[in-house]
Amino acid sequence: MYDFRLDDVARWIIERGAQTIALQMPEGLKVHAQRLGRELESRTGCKCVLIADPCYGACDVDRRFNEYADVLIQFGHADIPSMKVGPNVLFVEVFIDLDVSELLPRALPLLKGTVGVLTTVQHVRMIPGLMEWLGAHGHPAIVARGDSRIVFEGQVLGCNISAVEPLKGRVDSYLYIGSGNFHPLSVAIETDLPVVVIDPLMQEVRELSELRERILRQRHGAIVRASEAQKFIILASTRIGQNRLALAWELRRMLEDAGRQADVVILEEFHPDRLLPFDADAYVSTACPRIAIDDYLRYSKPLLTPVEVEIMLGRRRWDEYRMDAILGEDAGPRKDSSM
Ligand code: SF4
Repeated sequence: MYDFRLDDVARWIIERGAQTIALQMPEGLKVHAQRLGRELESRTGCKCVLIADPCYGACDVDRRFNEYADVLIQFGHADIPSMKVGPNVLFVEVFIDLDVSELLPRALPLLKGTVGVLTTVQHVRMIPGLMEWLGAHGHPAIVARGDSRIVFEGQVLGCNISAVEPLKGRVDSYLYIGSGNFHPLSVAIETDLPVVVIDPLMQEVRELSELRERILRQRHGAIVRASEAQKFIILASTRIGQNRLALAWELRRMLEDAGRQADVVILEEFHPDRLLPFDADAYVSTACPRIAIDDYLRYSKPLLTPVEVEIMLGRRRWDEYRMDAILGEDAGPRKDSSM
């Protein structure tokens, strides 16, 4: 099912003259790590170390890899072009082409008019076929490329749905191919248009308007709870592609201007227990935008996004609610290796 493109990877390793390689991959691919490592060792003559720590996205490159390896290869994610990781990191997208022909007819009645097509990097190669099928069934389909955090047309990240921006006013609904709800939920909240998910792994079709309403109610509740808070902890990540320390300082200034106390706390791996020593009534996350939404129930105190802080302080209206996003310019300029 997976295409790890080992010929290209081995060629890149040899060209770089590496002796030791580090392999990093998300949880879903780790069962392949030992086989891939041995295969690359036999093709390149290198020694290979396997990174067991979690890898949530391309933002999650282990910056200390050069203490134990010459190059780092991250499977499963596309490069984030605007992120600075240096020339010895290679991102290898792992494309998965799955048959969704039985799901498409079930999606059809849920779609409206012209359809914007979106997906994660694993499925970007399915986009042309899907667009053709939609066009042949009465729904012209269009696709666009996002900002400098994005490589492929139609690709979205959990923190970046900028591929939606050029489609605004041109589409009547969206079709998202992929598993999970976070990415399409961001699209539903951003656009207020029908978003239909074709989940090729679960073999499911779903429309997200109910989930959109439920999450918005939950987020409104979090803002109301946090509005009583006097002491805030603003969380900033040390992960290279989700470090928004400047935003954390800006939020601290806003909170202090509003008469609240705020401290900035840096951490790499987010876990509620790490915050227990700190005195706070509410938290604000400037790290991965998924943390405040997906992990909300794990925290005993309200956990807000930066946008929600603005709403709480009356700097933004509730009807201007947006999911938090990390845009290309947030990470600074860079262009490095990508396959
Ligand atoms: S910040 Fe979060 S959503 Fe964005 S690439 Fe990293 S893990 Fe994925």
